[in-house]
Amino acid sequence: MNSFKMWLYRFMQGRRGSDELVMTSYFTGLALWVLNLFIRSSLLGFVSTLLWIWGIFRMLSRNIPAREKENRWFLGWFTPLRTKFRNARTRFKNRHVYLYYRCPQCKAWLRLPRHIGEKTVTCSACGATFKKKA
Ligand SMILES: [Zn+2]
Repeated sequence: MNSFKMWLYRFMQGRRGSDELVMTSYFTGLALWVLNLFIRSSLLGFVSTLLWIWGIFRMLSRNIPAREKENRWFLGWFTPLRTKFRNARTRFKNRHVYLYYRCPQCKAWLRLPRHIGEKTVTCSACGATFKKKA
């Protein structure tokens, strides 16, 4: 280990370091900063700087339980949102290959290959059976 790595290792001991919330605030700040190159709003510049400072503060913080609690709170609502977004993107990408529809009973997303005619479908989530034309 060279001396800088050694110093950094010692410096980061007992500190939280990076997590999902740090990375998200960093990249959101970066995106706002790039956007602000075109918009040139002092408020947007302030918000992007604030997000970076907050990210650095959270990385260097020694109050690890509080930072973990924040990160858990963040993942609690962000992860389902991201999953929803990714699934919607997949459905859009494959819209010509599959017919996507919701189960009439449990509202789970299901799919059928397009142009196969009418089929009797069994929902994989709740087991309901119904007819569907694709
Ligand atoms: Zn169902």
